Amino acid sequence: MPSPDRVPESLTPENLTIVRHPLVQHKLTLMRDRNTSTSKFRALLREISLLLAYEATRDLPLAEVEIDTPLERASLPMLTGKKLCLVSILRAGTGLLDGMLELVPSARVGHVGLYREPDSLQVVEYYLKLPEDVSERNVILLDPMLATGNSAVAAISRLREMGAPSVKLVCLVAAPEGVAKLHEVFPEVAIIAAALDRCLDAQGYILPGFGDAGDRLFGTK
Ligand code: URA
Repeated sequence: MPSPDRVPESLTPENLTIVRHPLVQHKLTLMRDRNTSTSKFRALLREISLLLAYEATRDLPLAEVEIDTPLERASLPMLTGKKLCLVSILRAGTGLLDGMLELVPSARVGHVGLYREPDSLQVVEYYLKLPEDVSERNVILLDPMLATGNSAVAAISRLREMGAPSVKLVCLVAAPEGVAKLHEVFPEVAIIAAALDRCLDAQGYILPGFGDAGDRLFGTK
């Protein structure tokens, strides 16, 4: 029997949420297709990011406030608590950013520039810009691919150094290796993904995955 392309639902690790909504799954399959054009890929990523943002913000705290509707005074829920900071891992994380910002327009935005050394797959930081008050914000870290987990671990380590109190990771596709690595170092970090794929190949690409997210997004290959 051929091995499944994704890890069976029963094996989904703790602190990993796979968004199984049919719209997410349908759009992701279109993105995975090698014949999908750059512009279509970009549009799909934006659409999925809105749906993932919905899931990633599910536990934002609410408090009752008094307002006047046209008919009466009422006590109704509004967001409260810490504000959000969206942090994009350059460059592919920017593909998730616009859709997320549409849903939470008041969030601040940070960027972490990381690249993988092709041979060692180790991560090198070349850029970091975070809001000054990141230590007072809950961070949602954005990277379409959780592959080896090295980039996510490097970015979260930096966010922790800068005092970020809580971090979630939103990605499109996660590999079991990346989930294990991230949760070995930061077990408390919740991961929200559209799929948990089979494994990594020798170059650290996710299988079946969708190739290099940056290249697919920007048409650089
Ligand atoms: N980064 C990507 O862009 N794609 C992968 O499959 C793995 C890491």
